[in-house]
Order: sequence, then structure tokens, then C-alpha cells
Amino acid sequence: MHVASVGVSKLCFLLSLALCGLLLILIPAFQAPQSGIGIGSTGLRKRSKEPGATTSGDYEPWRRGADALRSPAGGLLPQGEEGGLKGLGRGSRDPLNPKDVFIAVKTTKKYHRSRLELLLQTWGSQAKEQTYIFTDGEDSELRKRAGGVNIINTNCSAAHTRQALCCKMSVEYDKFIESQKKWFCHVDDDNYVILPSLLRLLSSYHPSQDVYLGRPSLDHPIEAAERVKSDGSVSVKFWFATGGAGFCISRGLALKMSPWASLGNFISTAEKIRLPDDCTIGYIIEALLEVRLAHTYLFHSHLENLQKLPTDTVLDQVTLSYGGFENRRNVVAVGGPFSLAEDPSRFKTIHCLLYPDTDWCLAGNPGGHF
Ligand code: UDP
Ligand code: MN
Repeated sequence: MHVASVGVSKLCFLLSLALCGLLLILIPAFQAPQSGIGIGSTGLRKRSKEPGATTSGDYEPWRRGADALRSPAGGLLPQGEEGGLKGLGRGSRDPLNPKDVFIAVKTTKKYHRSRLELLLQTWGSQAKEQTYIFTDGEDSELRKRAGGVNIINTNCSAAHTRQALCCKMSVEYDKFIESQKKWFCHVDDDNYVILPSLLRLLSSYHPSQDVYLGRPSLDHPIEAAERVKSDGSVSVKFWFATGGAGFCISRGLALKMSPWASLGNFISTAEKIRLPDDCTIGYIIEALLEVRLAHTYLFHSHLENLQKLPTDTVLDQVTLSYGGFENRRNVVAVGGPFSLAEDPSRFKTIHCLLYPDTDWCLAGNPGGHF
């Protein structure tokens, strides 16, 4: 081979090597930024914009996507939010394995029949391995019906007192830490968890980030006397996610909560600020750890008017609830195989819309009801 052509080949080889190197350097720069960055660690003082209450004129907070999640500081939405209605989670990280989610359900013995039967028949049946029911009384019937769903008798008091409810939350926290799962979600026994929506939402974040997701029930932060860091002579303001709509916390953040939440510390923290379990969670995260709640309107409690939720968005929500059957019914407006008399909570109807192949759905009235 001619000397000059050898020189040219070498030059080409070196140039292609340099090009490869350049590409390797540039690829990360073109990739989308990490999801959810900045949700935490900025502290209450840096809040630049308070979110509105459940609705606010120019946007529809029940919609999936960019407008459904509002971070008080703005611009702190998870990756994939720009995709709009169908965009949440799109282009985000790897899909989350359902096994990585720990769903704690708070209940009490008097609701084992009336509420848990429905829960186990509907969404609980689709999430047996990740659902953990925290109750206050032994019930062999419940254990039989649970069919794989974890039942934990907390031995906490069955009274509806702050102490009893905080006792349950404390056990929920410890069991989650022990489970090694990546996400802790807490719901009440009158919530329906729409699992595909929950997984889509959580997969937009990373469990090692500081993530606290939920819906505030107030349109302003709560104020409490600071008795953990100081003597109670000063007060702190913080947001909290209402427990009746459910909330989720990443493992990374849950581990940081440990000094005030683990092994009974949760109960003493709640006692110091004299607030209920969900407020205490908000206090530990926002006031003590200075991580902010990512306000989401995809979680729903029966404190809001559930009829107002547009029917075509119901299946996109993360949690639903029901209340007041007798006099003032408060349920979501969905039609389907069951009448209001057959399915007063609408949970069976929602379940059949989500999982139409369920045996008892097929047996329902094909003509539909509402
Ligand atoms: N709950 C409980 N102990 C009680 C009463 C209620 O653990 O003595 C639980 C109940 O199972 C539910 C949550 O607390 O998960 C909220 O209770 P409920 O829905 O009755 O009241 P709400 O506060 O929603 O009106
Ligand atoms: Mn309730």
C-alpha cells in the first residue's frame, strides 16, 4: 500500500475516534433533565407562590398531566409533564414495578365488613402483594377474605383519637421501612386507588429524591407552635397532604424522617405539636426537613365535592373516595353496570371500567346504569 494512503487511513481512523468521543460527551447534554428535581430541600421560606384551593379559574386541576400537579415554587414538575393530558410519565424513567410500592390502608375493626369487603373485592384484589391493611383488632374472617393482602394488627387503640391514629401511622411507617419498598403511600379504607395512575405518577420521580405528594385540604398552610426544635414560643407554618385523600412519600425522604418517625418517635412528635397523623407527617417533612409538599389534585377525599369531578377524567385520578350515603351522598359521577342502589360508592363501577374482565363485572347489567 502507498505510504500516503496509509497516512490518510490513519487520519480517517483518528478523526472517527475523535468524533465518537465528541458524541459521547454531547449525548448527556441532549438528554432531558432529571425528573422532579428541586421538589425538596428548598425550605418553607423560599416558597414563591402558594397554590390555590381545589379549583382555580384557568386550569382544571383534576386533569392528568401538567396542570394536575402544582408545586408551590413552580417549575418543579416531574419529567414528562409537558406531554399534557396523556403525558404524565411519558418519556420518564423506567416504568415502576408495582412491587416497589407499599400501600398502607388505615382501618378499624368496625369497618372490616362495611369498608374492607368492598376494598378487597375491588382495587385491593389487583394489588395484593403491595397492600398492607393496618387495623386495631384481630379478625380471622378478615384474614380469610384478604387472600394474600397483608393484614397487620397494630394493637393500637380502636378509639378515634389523635393518639390512636398516630399509633397506626407509626406502625405503618416502621413496616414500610422494614419492607425495603421504594414508595410509601398511605390511604384510608374509604379510598379507591387507581393503580395504573398511581404507578404512572410515581414513575415520574425517583425514590431516592425527596418526594412528598398529596392534596392539601386547606388553601393555606397550617400553623403550629414549634415544640420540637424550640420551646413552643415560636410558630411554624407548613403544608400537609390530607390523609383522607391519600399521599405518597419516596423512600429517600422516608429515611430522613426516621429521627422523628421511627420506633414510636412519630407518636411523641405528634404529641409535641398536638396535631393529627397527617398533619404530623407534613410537619416532619415541611417544617423539620424543609422539603416541600408537591401539591397534586389527582388525590381525592370526600371532603371535596366528588360530583364535580368530570366523568371523563375519573379513571385518570390516583385516588377516589366516597361519603355520606344516607342523606348527602358524595360520590363520583360514573355510569356503568351497577345502579346507585347496587353500588352506592361507585367503586364497583369504577373497578369494572378499569378491569372489565373481572368475573363479577361480566355478570352485571350490560345495559348500564347511572
Ligand atoms: N379510623 C380509625 N379508627 C377509628 C375511626 C376511623 O382508624 O376509630 C380510620 C378509618 O378506618 C379511616 C380513617 O380513620 O381509614 C378516617 O375515618 P372516617 O372515614 O370514618 O372519617 P373521616 O375523617 O373521613 O370523616
Ligand atoms: Mn372517610
